[in-house]
Amino acid sequence: MNDIFSALESEVRSYSRTWPTTFDRAQGSYLYSEDGKPYLDFFAGAGALNYGHNNPALKRKLLEYIERDGVTHGLDQATVAKREFLETLDEKLLKPRGLDYKVQFPGPTGTNSVESALKLARKITGRESIISFTNAFHGMTLGSLSVTGNSMKRGGAGIPLVHATPMPYDNYFDGQFPDFLYFERLLADSGSGLNEPAAVIVETLQGEGGINSSRPEWLRGLRELCDKHGMLLIVDDVQMGCGRTGPFFSFEQAGITPDIVCLSKSIGGYGSPLAITLIKSELDVWEPGEHNGTFRGNNPAFVTASEALRLYWSDDELEKGTLAKGERVGKVLSDIEDKYEGAVSKGRGLARGLGFEDVEVAGKISKAAFERQLILETAGPKDEVVKIMPPLTLSDEELDQGLHIITESVQSVLG
Ligand code: PMP
Repeated sequence: MNDIFSALESEVRSYSRTWPTTFDRAQGSYLYSEDGKPYLDFFAGAGALNYGHNNPALKRKLLEYIERDGVTHGLDQATVAKREFLETLDEKLLKPRGLDYKVQFPGPTGTNSVESALKLARKITGRESIISFTNAFHGMTLGSLSVTGNSMKRGGAGIPLVHATPMPYDNYFDGQFPDFLYFERLLADSGSGLNEPAAVIVETLQGEGGINSSRPEWLRGLRELCDKHGMLLIVDDVQMGCGRTGPFFSFEQAGITPDIVCLSKSIGGYGSPLAITLIKSELDVWEPGEHNGTFRGNNPAFVTASEALRLYWSDDELEKGTLAKGERVGKVLSDIEDKYEGAVSKGRGLARGLGFEDVEVAGKISKAAFERQLILETAGPKDEVVKIMPPLTLSDEELDQGLHIITESVQSVLG
């Protein structure tokens, strides 16, 4: 069925491109194949579709905007759509949380936000090195890739890790060593060459890395460590932001305030490219033109982004719903963990995972689920984790249906 893609598209295709089906339409929590078969989507564009496919309210706004010939391409022009987005973000999101950030439009996708954050941290501090973490994923451009802890993603291209030092993520040593011991020792060792890094970049919950959740106290420790050593704290919330873990920002649960925050994926609301970098106001030392790019002012995405912020973040309903649904997923995953040796329930909110010792199992479960019309992807350095990330807007019935298929699929693979 996908022969034409094999013939015409590069072999580099991955993620969701191994499904033996060609999709045509999508609505809410479903993708439809070209012959009209519905597939329940528990992948949600790797977190780009938190409000579902073709969300009707966002679609209406987008259609109105297109109908009235609203500006589409705007670079950095002042536009009404951009003004509304900036005001809505400030009013619905930042002010209620006591956050004082300026907004940078770094380019269309998540990796652009990470690049701008790394550049800015180096500019602010006048220092060079960046601390990142084992199993981290930050994007595909060279700077982001240098702080990504997955060698496969370097594509055999040998991207040099100049000035990027990976540190153990939370639980890497299963509690055998005090948090940050390695970190502190390296920083104190003048021979390590790691004196005075510019910044630490962290995901509070690693998505691509295999749904690895860090503890709030570990994140607070990291914040303290940054303050102690004059390093900036960059939270990459590209995948786990926009409500994926419950609250809008994934770092809210830990009660920390990063210096810089990277957002993309669901910030545009409608699945179209938009990225922003939030910078503590006093740290916005950019001069005009120091970080530019053609596709930064995605005005149609500003329109859907503003509407998503208004509809879903004006009260805490979506947050509560996400936490409640996440609990239900967690319960089913714990049952599976209890029943099958080597299975581990992972994650929080609606960023959940099921890890397996046998690295073949996750792929088989994902395949079995697809045969039952449920889309599940895998994550982790060896693709050993089944990733469960439905749209946050899915109904309780859809959630139950998906969980039922997950249980059935696990049974079909493990007996
Ligand atoms: N950071 C994180 C945490 C991500 O999960 C991703 C994408 N999976 C990126 C950055 C890169 O985003 P993009 O693919 O939009 O460049």
